[in-house]
Amino acid sequence: MSHGTNGHRAPLRSPLAAPTILAAGLLLAVGAATALAQDRPEDRRRYVAPGTPVSDDPRRVPVAPGPTGPDGSIVLVGGRIFDGTGAAARPGTLVIERNRIRAVLAPGSKTWPAEARVIDVGGMTVLPGLIDLHTHLSYYMSGGFGPADEPQQLIADPIQGTLRGVERLRAYIASGITSVRDVGSHGDVAFRLKDWVRARRLPGPRVFAAGNLISARGGHAAGGLRPGSLLFGAVRVASGPEEWREAVREQYERGADFIKLTSHFTREEVAAAIAEAHALGLRVTVDAETFYTQWAVEAGADCIEHPLPRSEETIRLMATKGTCSVPTVVSYKYIFDTRGGYYGTMSRRFSFSHEANIEMVRKMKRAGVTIGVGTDLVGAWYRHLPAAYLTELKVLVAAGFTGPEALVAATGTNATIIDMADRLGTLEPGKLADVLVVRGKPDELLDDLTQVQWVIRDGEVVVDRGQIVGLQHLPLPEPGTAPARRSP
Ligand SMILES: [Zn+2]
Repeated sequence: MSHGTNGHRAPLRSPLAAPTILAAGLLLAVGAATALAQDRPEDRRRYVAPGTPVSDDPRRVPVAPGPTGPDGSIVLVGGRIFDGTGAAARPGTLVIERNRIRAVLAPGSKTWPAEARVIDVGGMTVLPGLIDLHTHLSYYMSGGFGPADEPQQLIADPIQGTLRGVERLRAYIASGITSVRDVGSHGDVAFRLKDWVRARRLPGPRVFAAGNLISARGGHAAGGLRPGSLLFGAVRVASGPEEWREAVREQYERGADFIKLTSHFTREEVAAAIAEAHALGLRVTVDAETFYTQWAVEAGADCIEHPLPRSEETIRLMATKGTCSVPTVVSYKYIFDTRGGYYGTMSRRFSFSHEANIEMVRKMKRAGVTIGVGTDLVGAWYRHLPAAYLTELKVLVAAGFTGPEALVAATGTNATIIDMADRLGTLEPGKLADVLVVRGKPDELLDDLTQVQWVIRDGEVVVDRGQIVGLQHLPLPEPGTAPARRSP
């Protein structure tokens, strides 16, 4: 992947080119990063002398290291390792210490601590935890997408939205998905869920949250907004470049990990919002169609959601500028299968067919666009997990990916799209221990990806032989008694 001339704010690093993580305190050697492009005025690396150790990648909002994980080590022995870098699966042993991957050992090597918890994964494949780049954790259960089983008056209630999120997080983690990118939820729901998972108070994937999605009057998701309506509280409607900037600042202030924009917008509005987000160190993803997509890519958008219509020129520009794509074809397939098309929305003037969506992905792949994996399982569609995620991967295969390439998109590539390639997405020493173990060989037969046996997130076993077990109540000693050691 070219880093030098594409005008992209924060060039994507391949999993293998991630900055070195030093053992002490997550210091990054900025020298590795300075070899990359410095072609945007807001690139903070310009202000750091090459080789200066810094606490995080200067291009992003600092990512705090978080709790260090349970005591002790976990060893996954007897399986095959698919490490997410693009290397072929191979027999090996994965050693986890607290919340980090310590080593990937050749079969037969037993260099791990004597007290480690050893799990036999014979007949299984060990891979990086999957990432889903397109979720809405708080969204209403129906809206026509699956069975309605909630009282009408609770549609936009943030408490109800939080509980929906808790349930969805369980569905994701049970399916081997250890990170999700929430591209728009009600109020602060996604931020609160993120905090609770991070503090190990809820079982679920890591949450990377946009806060509210930003739209225009009459734009996507903004139609008919009023108290009690489906997306009231989930959408920030803005008008004019200055207010689009202000809307970005609002999400940043609330703790956004990235910014989500949706058409309709003017050229000036989308450019202002993207420039503001980039100055703050946030990446931007855009839900748009036709010329709106072209405008967003011209303005430096980092990512485009959905398989919506766009021109050959736009696809070429995406490839040149390093703009990624998250096609979310599975949710469109569900719409075609249940409704025949996308009707009655102001921002989806027309939709393709399922076959044409696959063709769109094929064209982008041929052009060299970086393609990630997201599902957009709104309504009750999350109940189709893990099959829904598998269907999205099969779309990539239908569009020309090999099975292993689809798995790399789901792991290593997805980690680069959320700007976390230095910590997530591959099984390499020093990375955070987000690990999926499935029965079979998903790199040879993708369907095996749904045979989830073990899921480890941040060094904690959350799924044990297919059942969610993590985050049990671990009683604290009463005041005045000796402290107990927390078991791994
Ligand atoms: Zn969506």
